[in-house]
Amino acid sequence: MKPIIGITAGIGKDGDYYLRRRYCTAVHKAGGTPLLLAPVGSPLAAINVCDGILLSGGGDISPSLCGIAEYDPVYLDDPSPERDSYELELARLAFSSDTPTLGICRGLQIMNIALGGSLYFHIDGHFQKREKDQPTHTVSIAPSSALARLICSDTLEVNSFHHQAIHSAAPPLCITASSADGYAEAAEAQNRHFFLGVQWHPEQMEGHSSEVLFAALCSAASGAQITKG
Ligand code: MN
Repeated sequence: MKPIIGITAGIGKDGDYYLRRRYCTAVHKAGGTPLLLAPVGSPLAAINVCDGILLSGGGDISPSLCGIAEYDPVYLDDPSPERDSYELELARLAFSSDTPTLGICRGLQIMNIALGGSLYFHIDGHFQKREKDQPTHTVSIAPSSALARLICSDTLEVNSFHHQAIHSAAPPLCITASSADGYAEAAEAQNRHFFLGVQWHPEQMEGHSSEVLFAALCSAASGAQITKG
């Protein structure tokens, strides 16, 4: 049976739940069944039902949850404490149960905060004006990482739609990719089957290096499915 991949949904300004279709299309193309996860109630049921988790992109995590006391509210992008608390708990459960997990953009930041890391509240130069499928900067990838094995390269051209970045990495996470200006662009837990996040948006970019991330999530989730019986 195809692995069920739970994908976190966001909360729109009108209060409704939403998710960009491309996340679902990418999971479907990679051989998974996408299941939208509404940020309501306990995420424990989602962990029990899903073979894998995709933490999707979105607005900023509420500064108070990141330990950020002082910040310029001009830069604060659409925080949602409801979504934050659901996803932080989901990420902790996914990590503790070794449920295969891919984090994208905000999803990487959720992984990091959930496990005890911190964020820069605002950085410049990483929110591109070019089209979403166009790369605008290079990342260097740690050679011995799972990411490097998947991408089969130690550099990658990526798109960039973030104004926050990992400051200190959570203890279980290793930074596995960095931009030329020194910001973390990917992280992974090396003592889990697949717990990996990227700061860019692979669902928006065509090609092998994007597809391989969703394929790795679905493949690890298939493995988890067999273990669960
Ligand atoms: Mn970037």
